[in-house]
Amino acid sequence: MSNFPVMQIRADFPILADKIRDRPLVYLDNAASCQKPQVVIDTLTHVYAHEYANIHRGVHTLSMRATERFEAAREIARGFLNAESVKEIIFVRGATEAINLVAQSYARPLLQPGDEILITAMEHHANIVPWQMVCQQTGAALKVAPMNLQGELILEAFYPLLTPKVKLLALSHMSNALGTINPVKPLIAAAHALNIPVLVDGAQAAPHLAVDVQDLDCEFYVFSGHKVYGPSGVGVLYGKQAWLEAMPPYQGGGDMIRKVSFSGTEYAGLPHKFEAGTPAIAEVIGLGAAIQYVQGVGLAAIAAHEADLLAYATELARGIPELRIIGEAAHKGGILSFTLHKIHPHDIGTLLDNLGIAVRAGHHCAMPVMEFFCVPATARASFAMYNTHQEVDYLMNGVKSLIKVFA
Ligand code: PMP
Repeated sequence: MSNFPVMQIRADFPILADKIRDRPLVYLDNAASCQKPQVVIDTLTHVYAHEYANIHRGVHTLSMRATERFEAAREIARGFLNAESVKEIIFVRGATEAINLVAQSYARPLLQPGDEILITAMEHHANIVPWQMVCQQTGAALKVAPMNLQGELILEAFYPLLTPKVKLLALSHMSNALGTINPVKPLIAAAHALNIPVLVDGAQAAPHLAVDVQDLDCEFYVFSGHKVYGPSGVGVLYGKQAWLEAMPPYQGGGDMIRKVSFSGTEYAGLPHKFEAGTPAIAEVIGLGAAIQYVQGVGLAAIAAHEADLLAYATELARGIPELRIIGEAAHKGGILSFTLHKIHPHDIGTLLDNLGIAVRAGHHCAMPVMEFFCVPATARASFAMYNTHQEVDYLMNGVKSLIKVFA
């Protein structure tokens, strides 16, 4: 057993002390959204109580204070991804908006009939639908790199799909439905050998793995605040400066302009060019606090703890003959998707909830993954830094009790 301070961490998350249906909450739906530490809750409260005003436009003290804190959060996000410059950090609503921004602002003006966007078979809908939309708008085609029955990308099939027709490779760092961690660094290098830019969907990876965008060398990296223990309604698009400079704005409005007249508008420089309108001010500042909290615990320690939980859960799951694990990649993050013989995943979710155990049941916004594995849905337990081995025991004992009822 490691000396990861899980009980100390749990004490920082007030909701974990709550009861659900008179039982201690066992929160295993972290891939959908993580719970928030007190420091994030306090930051939001403090900003709204004492530091709130609109940013970037005011000359008064509160506006300047809010602006300072907002821009300090940008620096924190820069450090989190090891981006070269704060100009490369665009605050958006979340991973979904970030991908749509790149689809509409980078891909749409560029794509011609005959061009291709390459994704993988394990993508979240957020990394499928924006590309389908832009392909419809431009006549380009969407290509899908296949995976095997373990839920791993088939590299021999992937590489031939990288051709000069491909104008962007967009792939998840870690799959939300399967837990698969893709070998993004060599895949990015392979794409670059053909001058193909790469977008990495880091919605699942950012909370669990240390990310260094300069080392990865990807053109775009996206993640959501609510999955890194921060507030909802905020996320980050990282883009290499030269790429963002070359892209037109995504939305027009306030804050993204330098000068407006009826004869034309001059846009602001980076990063503001892509931040039209009043942003989620307190939430961005809260995201800064969340990232600092994660950094305080340390991503290497978090990853090791979660790997431990996953290994333990997988071992117990393998001992249950009625349970089928969906997604058995050799390199996986803390996600255990499964089905049970004779019990629909939605019933698993509801029945486990009766025991105070929160898992997700459904298609996890990855319907093509469900189709590939010929299942309507799965139940998914997903781990975070505050989960314990005892909670894994509760889950597996809960699963066994359901099996008995349905036998
Ligand atoms: N990509 C992946 C891999 C995800 O897991 C999610 C969220 N489930 C998203 C993208 C979209 O994130 P959001 O809903 O926060 O925009």
